[in-house]
Amino acid sequence: MHTRTAACSCGQLRAICSGTAGRISICHCLACQRRTGAPFGAQSRFQREQVQIEGRSTTYTRQSDSGNNTRFHFCPECGSTVYWEPGGYPGFIYVALGMFADPNYPAPAHSVYETRRHPWTMHIADCPMEHMD
Ligand SMILES: [Zn+2]
Ligand SMILES: [Zn+2]
Repeated sequence: MHTRTAACSCGQLRAICSGTAGRISICHCLACQRRTGAPFGAQSRFQREQVQIEGRSTTYTRQSDSGNNTRFHFCPECGSTVYWEPGGYPGFIYVALGMFADPNYPAPAHSVYETRRHPWTMHIADCPMEHMD
């Protein structure tokens, strides 16, 4: 089966993902901005059994607006967040899209929290995907 490997900056923490990615999205919320240091986060959702984790991670649990706890796993050496477990969607894992370091990775189909979007990222609004507040 086709696999893609997401890896942190130093490479010790990896998420090996089998098969087709599920929902691929970008999120403009302020929590994603703080987590990534970027104006928006990008992620790919997989079923838990599609993802094999290798390496050590430290976790940070954050309560989302919806009241669910999301558990982020980041590399204790380099600090990159590689994947997270969404409390609201048990059985799923989100993998940070940039960790695949693959410019040919499939494009996101959903753009979430656009009310928090930096105006200069306006061209994203023209992309053919679902746009949500
Ligand atoms: Zn690392
Ligand atoms: Zn977000």
